[in-house]
Amino acid sequence: MTVLFASDLDQTLIYSCNSMGMDITEEELVEVERYEGKPLSFMTKKSQSALWNIGDSTFFLPVTTRTQAQYERVTGIFEGQQPPRFAVISNGAVILENGQPIKEWSDQIRQTCIDRKTVINELLPEIERHFSEDWVVKVREADDWFVYLIIDRARFPEDKLDFYTTTFKKLGWGLSLQGRKLYFMPESITKAGAMEYIKKRIGASYVVAAGDSLLDLDLLESADYGMLASHGEAAKNAAPTSAHIRKTENYGIKAGEEILARVAEISLQRQ
Ligand SMILES: [Mg+2]
Repeated sequence: MTVLFASDLDQTLIYSCNSMGMDITEEELVEVERYEGKPLSFMTKKSQSALWNIGDSTFFLPVTTRTQAQYERVTGIFEGQQPPRFAVISNGAVILENGQPIKEWSDQIRQTCIDRKTVINELLPEIERHFSEDWVVKVREADDWFVYLIIDRARFPEDKLDFYTTTFKKLGWGLSLQGRKLYFMPESITKAGAMEYIKKRIGASYVVAAGDSLLDLDLLESADYGMLASHGEAAKNAAPTSAHIRKTENYGIKAGEEILARVAEISLQRQ
């Protein structure tokens, strides 16, 4: 029986210095991503070893909102030179197979976005209308799929987030606030959709999913067993989740360790 372990990366399996928490010593850490010559993301050595030795019957699928270039920097999630066979990037708009985007998949997503008018050109004027405030540091476009604002969290009016969420939902965009980034994601770009495609491709019979943000919730809902990192946006959100989704007991990088320990257990049970 093949188990599919479909997991978000940032703040689920890998952590920056700011997000890892205090409960950790330098000796426990291993660098998994380097950017402009500097270490950027980490796992614990225990986590990395658990991920590398996940077992032959469990298939690891990274499922991230990172773009291809951002994903390719995270070399510490696999051992040696062989990255995972598949990776879901750009929140599900792109699936990499042996490092190459599957064209038919993205073409179909693109067409749906065009049909629903959830394309960046339609979104940008709305963003300008609502976000002229001084807390918007930058507006970034991710490979023509979605938009995120780099914001000044100290000045960001958290009490207006519900209003923004409702306003943009009417236009077909989902919002997700993660650290200094406020994402605007077309509702037809989902992690769950891409995961289901891979599930069929590899013939998996059981799916374990892990994540931390609102963009991960559809992935966890579609899985047989879901783990939600307790420190994340989604766990703090009041939205109810199904009974097969558990919150981690730990926070920060130790939540990542807990998730991988649980995956190892499930993997053993289902062999
Ligand atoms: Mg995340």
